[in-house]
Amino acid sequence: MSDAQNRRATRTDRAGRAFTAGFARSGRDDANGGGIRLGPSARIVTRVAEALDRHPALARWLFAGLANAPFVGRRLPVLVRAFLGATAFEIHDVDLAHGRIGIGGVDEVIFSSKFLEAFHRIIAEEAGSEARKTAALYRVGKEGGYWEVSEALAHGKWGPRPLVELIEAGSATEQLRNDPWMARFFAIVMKMVCRLIINEGGWGVVESLEVDVEPMRVTLSHSNEARWLAPSKEPVCALCAGVIAGYASRIFGRDLDAVEVACLAAGAPSCVFELHPGGST
Ligand SMILES: [Zn+2]
Repeated sequence: MSDAQNRRATRTDRAGRAFTAGFARSGRDDANGGGIRLGPSARIVTRVAEALDRHPALARWLFAGLANAPFVGRRLPVLVRAFLGATAFEIHDVDLAHGRIGIGGVDEVIFSSKFLEAFHRIIAEEAGSEARKTAALYRVGKEGGYWEVSEALAHGKWGPRPLVELIEAGSATEQLRNDPWMARFFAIVMKMVCRLIINEGGWGVVESLEVDVEPMRVTLSHSNEARWLAPSKEPVCALCAGVIAGYASRIFGRDLDAVEVACLAAGAPSCVFELHPGGST
């Protein structure tokens, strides 16, 4: 992979957040091994998505009406609507008759952030130790996160298709190494997924998602879980770590665990999660 390609595979938004999916040191350009390549139309989509991402206010001004239009908007994939300026709230489906909400076929419930504190405090009391509480919350987050990605893929409403194919092939790591266009596509799509699920879900702000380093790393500022649990001597974002592990395990097709190595509640500027092979930590 050339330096120019590497630069293109690293997308940094205006706030300086890095969403990288290039593997700068692979040195390979076309040794794809017959895997999934991003076609010409998907490359155009990638360029358009990157442009819309750089100008979210303009995108919303120009296209939010279309993204949220009756009949038209509801037929568009979740991520397309998001790039056109729709928020997660506008994209949610609300079924008043059955008391259900969801986004792109993923059934949800909404509860206040106080539940985060209550989960930690009461499960610790019931489980008898901080370690057992942390393990329980982590497992809840990991199982739930894994399920969310699986549901999103199963309903086919999130799109786009190259991403679905990439994930279902179970070889995203190799594909991203070998195809700089796929790396660009993955970076811009995952940035939007983070915005919809984490930022607009009230968990905090995903500052960076680095998959071109070993171990892969996620940086989250303003963690709501940390806000409720601060101050602490140790990282506290067990539920969030589990969710990240569940998402990463499903997306990369291998069991991954998230270790929080820095935490807002413990005095760090942001929470930082490293991803390691499952069971190795
Ligand atoms: Zn934290």
